[in-house]
Amino acid sequence: MEEEMLDNSNNNLQSYEQRKKEKVVVNKKLDEKLKENMSKIKHKLLVLSNKGGVGKSSIAINLACYLSENSFKVGILDADLHGPSVAKMLGFEGKRLQGGSKGIIPITISSNLIAVSMASLIETSDMPLIWRGPLKMMALKQFLGDVEWGNLDYLIMDSPPGTGDEPLSICQLIPELEGGIIVTTPQEVALNDSRKCVNFLRNLNIPILGIVENMSGLRCPHCGKNIDLFKSGGGEKAALEFGLPFLGKIPIDINMVNSTDEGKPYIFKYKNSETAQVFNKIVKEIIHYPNRTGD
Ligand code: ADP
Repeated sequence: MEEEMLDNSNNNLQSYEQRKKEKVVVNKKLDEKLKENMSKIKHKLLVLSNKGGVGKSSIAINLACYLSENSFKVGILDADLHGPSVAKMLGFEGKRLQGGSKGIIPITISSNLIAVSMASLIETSDMPLIWRGPLKMMALKQFLGDVEWGNLDYLIMDSPPGTGDEPLSICQLIPELEGGIIVTTPQEVALNDSRKCVNFLRNLNIPILGIVENMSGLRCPHCGKNIDLFKSGGGEKAALEFGLPFLGKIPIDINMVNSTDEGKPYIFKYKNSETAQVFNKIVKEIIHYPNRTGD
């Protein structure tokens, strides 16, 4: 009896050691795949904000769409694991990610745009994800390493609000990350909100492409006058104080809300709008970013 127990515990120990070894091999392979995948993508950008609801995801997807409309090959990664909204915004909610011969196949949005989101892996959008840091890091590692991103000009990554596990993992997993784009709103508090993101990126030695001020002014649909609903200039002031490029002011645009809800990206539908002109300016700044290394 005692001998049998000893045998069992030896077997358990052996299989534990075996599993541990296998895990190390799998991890190493994933690291290599991640490196290889990232080497095929010229520009990797992280969009972040310190608070939720400032329009970070809206900016991220519209920038991706705008770049793709301008003949660039673009991928968008929804790195917001707890509250993924990219799938809804791009209209692929409910679509599941499929496995291919070389890895996970991203969702095709248009001929130049592909996307990956946690929303395509979880059963229902009401299901909360209860994960700690290391698991999130692993999930992002798989999104970067196991997805067949192919050759891309840009990979835009939409991180959740704040400076937590997800943006930190991305910065650590992609040492050659080209930079961060910070989204804020026009209020005075924008300065404090942006400061955290700026310090976060600077501490990690990640370049900052600039600050975008979103929800900046509203054109009254009746009289055409501008109303500074959330004041104006907070993002611009923050950029000035931190010595960063100010990328542009995106106004409050009712069509932006509607297109988000309909899953039809604003920039595809309202190419000639005033708001589209601002996106045009931001995209030009991104394309001509002076500290480029990937071209
Ligand atoms: P975040 O990613 O910062 O949480 P979202 O991009 O999800 O913010 O935007 C929150 C809400 O605000 C969405 O309903 C979106 O349509 C809306 N929104 C974002 N930017 C604008 C804008 N410039 N004008 C009007 N609505 C906007």
